[in-house]
Amino acid sequence: MPRFFVQSENIGDQTIAIEGSDVNHIRNVLRMKPGDELTVSDGGGMDYFCRIADMNRDRVMLDIVGSWKSYTELPVRLYLFQGLPKADKMDLIVQKAVELGAYEIVPVRTARTIVKLDGQKEARKLERWNSISESAAKQAGRAVIPKVHEIVSFEQAVDMCRKLDAFVMPYEKDEGMEHSRRVVRSLHGVSDAGIFIGPEGGFADEEVRAAVDAGAKTISLGSRILRTETAGMAVLSVLMFELETDRKEKKED
Ligand code: SAM
Repeated sequence: MPRFFVQSENIGDQTIAIEGSDVNHIRNVLRMKPGDELTVSDGGGMDYFCRIADMNRDRVMLDIVGSWKSYTELPVRLYLFQGLPKADKMDLIVQKAVELGAYEIVPVRTARTIVKLDGQKEARKLERWNSISESAAKQAGRAVIPKVHEIVSFEQAVDMCRKLDAFVMPYEKDEGMEHSRRVVRSLHGVSDAGIFIGPEGGFADEEVRAAVDAGAKTISLGSRILRTETAGMAVLSVLMFELETDRKEKKED
């Protein structure tokens, strides 16, 4: 069923108004009509099952048929700190990270980052990444649109991670799968966790030391070297599998 995000001020007791570019999408792309059904999220954890009551060029009015607390968010807020990759790889990383449940994506400029973006290019990229996040969130049925943060330096990223409950850093020189499994299991019950992925050239040794000093736990992703765009997806998949709770348990919260 199509899903749309609206501002909470557009949600009344019994009706919801959809405005902006979604109106064109509903009328002319999806060709929906009064009586058709869709889901609306307030971006804050509530889902509304709605029926179209009326529409014009500027607005689609919906009747609320039912509402419930969304069950699609992971119990741990996962922040993906991604070493800025080359070319358009970040597009794919944002899309897949949102599908896999990341709460926020933070592009990081590290010692071995090659790509250079001036202010204007960075602003355009950010707009694009956030729009990819919104489309992926709608497709995946997410209750929030994960934010793609402005690009930060390695030091700023480490500072942001210090404030989180946990901070894992996949590092190809790390050994020991049992240690890595223990780190993954230790994330049960935390509120938020950072995942720090190096760019194509990996992390510089001094970056790994700085992150470990700040509390990062290094983990291995196995004996094969994964591309930077694969590594984040691998960690998010493992965490999603380990931390996800059943829909029934969430409904009983
Ligand atoms: N430095 C490596 C090299 O140039 O051969 C590759 C870096 S890898 C492409 C990019 C990032 O993915 C790494 O910084 C690390 O965070 C993660 N990564 C890839 N494979 C990994 C593995 N087997 N174990 C842990 N982390 C891995």
